[in-house]
Amino acid sequence: ADRTDCPPDTAELGRATWTFLHTTAAYYPTEPSAEHQSRMRALLSSLPTLYACAPCADDFGEDIKANPPDVSGRDGLSRWLCERHNEVNRKLGKRVWKCDWKTMDARWKDGPADGRCD
Ligand code: FAD
Repeated sequence: ADRTDCPPDTAELGRATWTFLHTTAAYYPTEPSAEHQSRMRALLSSLPTLYACAPCADDFGEDIKANPPDVSGRDGLSRWLCERHNEVNRKLGKRVWKCDWKTMDARWKDGPADGRCD
């Protein structure tokens, strides 16, 4: 069935949110201004309050309390976010990803080297 008109469930909301967050990290400056850094910190630290899945929001809040966001630049932020995503993957029994910049850029910015996403 075509479900594109239906409200998102937890999985669909999660996929959309990870897409937004990883893409934002992939295009975050390599040398962010003080404003970029404080806006990114604010965006991430708002999720435990605002994210529309209460158990997800609670666990994410605990996780970022223990692992504060690295907003120092694109590579650090992409790695940090990958690690947070892996925490959720572990909890749900999903595959854990390598968090190096090559893997992140291939998935979220440049596409794989074989060009199949071009
Ligand atoms: P997703 O996990 O949504 O990932 C989307 C795509 O991202 C994958 O297809 C893959 O290509 C890529 N990817 C996967 N792992 C990584 C990584 N580490 N780094 C970079 N890219 C990656 N669901 C729950 O049931 N319980 C929860 O407590 C919960 N907490 C969440 C907390 C947050 C902050 C968010 C954003 C989502 C949460 N979710 C939770 C949703 C869950 O993470 C998934 O989005 C959902 O289960 C759908 O999973 P998926 O297999 O389609 O891929």
